[in-house]
Amino acid sequence: MDHFLYRDGCLCAEDVPIERIAAAAGTPVYVYSTATLERHYRVFTAAFRGLDAQVCYAVKANGNLAVVATLAGLGAGADVVSLGELEIALAAGVPAARIVFSGVGKSEAEMAAALKAGILQINVESEPELRQLSRVATSLGVVAPAALRINPDVDALTHEKISTGRKENKFGIEWTAAHRVFGEAAQLANIRLAGIAVHIGSQLTRIEPFLAAFRRLRDLVVMLRTDGHTITTLDLGGGLGVPYGDQSLPELPSPDAYAAAVRHTVGDLGCRLILEPGRLLVANAGILVTRVLYVKEGATRTFVIVDAGMNDLLRPALYDAYHAIVPLIEPAPDGEQCEMDVVGPVCETSDTFGIGRLLPPVAAGDGLALRTAGAYGAAMASSYNARPLPAEVLVNGDRFAIVSARPSLAEMMARQRLPDWLANAMPPAPAEVGP
Ligand SMILES: *Cc1c(COP(=O)(O)O)cnc(C)c1O
Repeated sequence: MDHFLYRDGCLCAEDVPIERIAAAAGTPVYVYSTATLERHYRVFTAAFRGLDAQVCYAVKANGNLAVVATLAGLGAGADVVSLGELEIALAAGVPAARIVFSGVGKSEAEMAAALKAGILQINVESEPELRQLSRVATSLGVVAPAALRINPDVDALTHEKISTGRKENKFGIEWTAAHRVFGEAAQLANIRLAGIAVHIGSQLTRIEPFLAAFRRLRDLVVMLRTDGHTITTLDLGGGLGVPYGDQSLPELPSPDAYAAAVRHTVGDLGCRLILEPGRLLVANAGILVTRVLYVKEGATRTFVIVDAGMNDLLRPALYDAYHAIVPLIEPAPDGEQCEMDVVGPVCETSDTFGIGRLLPPVAAGDGLALRTAGAYGAAMASSYNARPLPAEVLVNGDRFAIVSARPSLAEMMARQRLPDWLANAMPPAPAEVGP
């Protein structure tokens, strides 16, 4: 459930008409709903009631400072994968003691920053990384709290590009090697390896892969404890899927069903649990608002060309992802609908948001919303085609604020430099162009 609904014929985010936001912030613009973030966080945490579980929101899904601060205010920790995300989490008010650092390629600088901040746990994904962490911790004179991310060799049954838990994937250490790595960690200076982590993929639509991975985790805990290792935390990753409005998909497992799988497999091990939902918390809490530039009648199809492009929302181009597309003005219930291809202005055929979508007749200037765009939307945006990053707005009841401004072309140009040998050969600067 989300808080993007039609009221008096206009699509609203909570109590604010989207057209008002588009007028204030321009398009394309991402709009997030505080009430929806809160609802998703509460439903998810309620499912784990009675378990010793800490939610560490996966910041990579949406790293907007205001979004992370909203979740932090509800008690969420953070799962970060870079120095930048660590900075965002800390700036958003996430206590260091609730921050987990994940990722296959942490640099020395990232390890040092995480250790200096005093974060909860660093999830190590290889033996060279474990040795490096030991060196960095030793040079800082601290003990690094670490968990070992294992690769359970489980097929997540999701899109190939977001599947991370098979042995062919780059993530984690083969689960069969965990025993050896724990042995090595015990010999390394300034490492406290007392946890196991797993994350098998994203947008999982079935519960069975989670069950298989968690069972494997359980077996490992039992085996490692038999070997004399102390295991106090289990990081179960994220990955629970969300409905994108694609009618062809089966019904998704609920947070309750997911929590039941957790209880059933690892609930009785006496471990502290870390949960890293990303998409589940933020996807349905965001929409991408765009305006129609042109309606073009092609030889065989009708193209609706909008002012958002694949640089603003990459998921359809990258994963063939489906996003429901709705007009900002509520269509009449029995009104005419036509099949249209909704495409962006970027010079790539994959810059397509929807093929053969049924929409009421649209004209230049009309507003459309791509739903379920709060996760991996703005976070993956780029300036491809020298297009500015989209603006982001957060709504809270009847208030809204621009929480990430669209960069001006001047700001974008200011990052570029000509080397001496080109600058000296340049004709005098031309008059400035554009707004
Ligand atoms: C991406 C990621 C997550 C979040 O995944 P979602 O599918 O967005 O829930 C959690 N943990 C790790 C290690 C990740 O890489």
